[in-house]
Amino acid sequence: MSDKEEYKDFLIKENLSRIKNKIIVLSCKGGVGKSTIATNISYGFAIKGFKTAIFDIDMHGPSIPKMIGNECVNLEEKNEDGRSKPYKVLENLYALSMGFFLKNTDDPLIWRGPIKVGLLKKFFSDIYWPELDLLVIDSPPGTGDEIISLFNIIGNIDGAIIVSTPQDISMIDVSKSVKFCKMFNIKILGIIENMSYFECPNCKNRIKVFDGNASEKLKELYGLEILGELPLDPDISKCSDIGRPYIYDFGKKEGGIIFSNIVNKLIEKIYI
Ligand code: ADP
Repeated sequence: MSDKEEYKDFLIKENLSRIKNKIIVLSCKGGVGKSTIATNISYGFAIKGFKTAIFDIDMHGPSIPKMIGNECVNLEEKNEDGRSKPYKVLENLYALSMGFFLKNTDDPLIWRGPIKVGLLKKFFSDIYWPELDLLVIDSPPGTGDEIISLFNIIGNIDGAIIVSTPQDISMIDVSKSVKFCKMFNIKILGIIENMSYFECPNCKNRIKVFDGNASEKLKELYGLEILGELPLDPDISKCSDIGRPYIYDFGKKEGGIIFSNIVNKLIEKIYI
């Protein structure tokens, strides 16, 4: 190993030593609400006073910049040694995403595995990570390059949250995520079922938009805890689109309370 590589490894270890806990949000399918959940959970921890960062490792479809309301970020805050810090979203909350480094948000990224691995390493060597209680990792769908490389770089992950939707067909995807975690010895903190129901704003009846009860079946099959069942709520998608996380503006609405309860359960589970 060259001196330069050795120094980079030293910087990675040093950065990781400042991060107390790391959790990853996983699902084998896209569009189930992984980034929405990772964002709202991160805000939830930050609001409760924990020093938190959200790290978006989805290189091909990073959505965190939009969800935190800042797609054109300059990493201006620097450490004494000149390395940039992740973007400070608010007191207690930092964010880092591949999306911050793209010239145009709709530019496709045509990169193969080794380039992505190199970049992931740079995120931990060339960036100065501040002292953190928690790093929330938002992953791309599936069980591919980015996630495996990340595990190799950062080693121990304190837990995984698996995102599911109610349809029986999502059982297959969740089972894949469960088996993936077992292969890498990662503790599963629980399942979050997203889009569980829609509450009619007029009659307040709950409508199960998607039939099935996949999460209940998975709970029985794998003995996993359901951390929360989130409603399908137009305010959730509206908030993602305008870049103000739902938990921030709708903390007292049912979905906001569920997010907050999920954060409380996670605090107990990872002993922050
Ligand atoms: P993923 O990260 O799994 O690809 P996203 O978090 O990007 O999924 O969510 C996909 C879309 O669905 C986004 O537009 C988001 O705002 C919307 N969405 C996610 N969860 C909900 C929900 N519970 N209610 C309404 N819209 C939602």
